[in-house]
Amino acid sequence: MHLPQFEYIRAKNLADGLAVLAEYGADAKVMSGGSDLLINMKYRLDTPKVLVSMNGVSELKTVEETADGGLRIGAGCQLTDLVANPAISERFPVLRDAMSAVGSRHIRNIATLGGNLCLETRCWYTNQSENWRMTREGCFKTDLEACHVIKTANRCHAINSSDTAPALMVLDASVVLASHAGQREVALIDFYRDDGVDHTVVKPDELLTAVLIPGSDRRSIFAKLAQRVGLDFAVGTFAASIRGSNDAPDSVCLVLNSVSAAPKALAESEKILIESGLTDEAIEAAAIAARKALGELTNLFTPSGFKRRLVKTLIRNALHELRDKVN
Ligand SMILES: Cc1cc2nc3c(=O)[nH]c(=O)nc-3n(C[C@H](O)[C@H](O)[C@H](O)COP(=O)(O)OP(=O)(O)OC[C@H]3O[C@@H](n4cnc5c(N)ncnc54)[C@H](O)[C@@H]3O)c2cc1C
Ligand code: SF4
Repeated sequence: MHLPQFEYIRAKNLADGLAVLAEYGADAKVMSGGSDLLINMKYRLDTPKVLVSMNGVSELKTVEETADGGLRIGAGCQLTDLVANPAISERFPVLRDAMSAVGSRHIRNIATLGGNLCLETRCWYTNQSENWRMTREGCFKTDLEACHVIKTANRCHAINSSDTAPALMVLDASVVLASHAGQREVALIDFYRDDGVDHTVVKPDELLTAVLIPGSDRRSIFAKLAQRVGLDFAVGTFAASIRGSNDAPDSVCLVLNSVSAAPKALAESEKILIESGLTDEAIEAAAIAARKALGELTNLFTPSGFKRRLVKTLIRNALHELRDKVN
């Protein structure tokens, strides 16, 4: 498979990249590591006229400490570098664990945090070459009002597989979106839309420039299940954080990903744990509530029935582990 024709622009700095996006809008596509985008272009799922590479922009590659004990991480930082960053490992091990779970070492050497958060959604239909897809009609993601995965769907249910999204969400992180006109901060919990076609709030002329993580005294955990450890996208990921004691937590935050078009915050399960603490019974009830909250599921490599059972087990095991964690 070869790439389609496109104009390649390598941004010299942030202002340069934003100017290109302002000029070309939806005809342009941002490339960071390119580990996902270039494959989608070969599949003809993305055919931008202009590719703006932000890979050489040093302003996007810094990690800074913030006054509240948190971190500001440049969107263009490569995952391998971030995994090795001592400030991240010490303060936010849940993020380190999630980043370590992305693909293989080779992928993480080029993949960036910004690219991981903006990762396109996937399903078994889009995960194929254009020739394969041409044996069927199109879908919401291409040119037709139809879905091959959930026949009755009125929107695209392709899956959000970002490993870092749930980990950052349980840390109350937000992102900075910049355009030629200025910049805005968006809490990660408000960043995703439950629609596989238009799955983030990023506008065509905007760029994700940084991730902001506030200082925190939460204990947290990340869990991922994939068919092949060390390479595959997840079948399910789960992140949890808790502030306060196991018996009477002040706050609990639970997020599931790789099961729907947007990461899922598990409000009902959180309520159960806040009211009852992390007892065996409450953990079981929280896992059952999460399973019920799933709604429609797609079949990406695994049947949806398996995924429902998986979610319950993933959450139960992770919460037991979190309960025993000192930090
Ligand atoms: C074999 C293989 C295994 C993989 N396994 C995993 C996995 O286990 N978990 C996982 O999460 N991912 C996985 N991936 C997907 C991908 O490699 C990672 O998600 C990676 O972090 C994407 O980052 P990138 O910098 O390469 O993004 P790119 O490919 O450059 O971009 C991805 C998308 O984000 C947009 N984008 C990039 N940067 C920005 C920005 N700063 N602002 C706005 N939009 C932006 C691009 O336009 C594009 O739509 C895998 C990929 C492969 C090929
Ligand atoms: S989930 Fe349905 S609409 Fe979305 S990309 Fe897959 S087949 Fe197309």
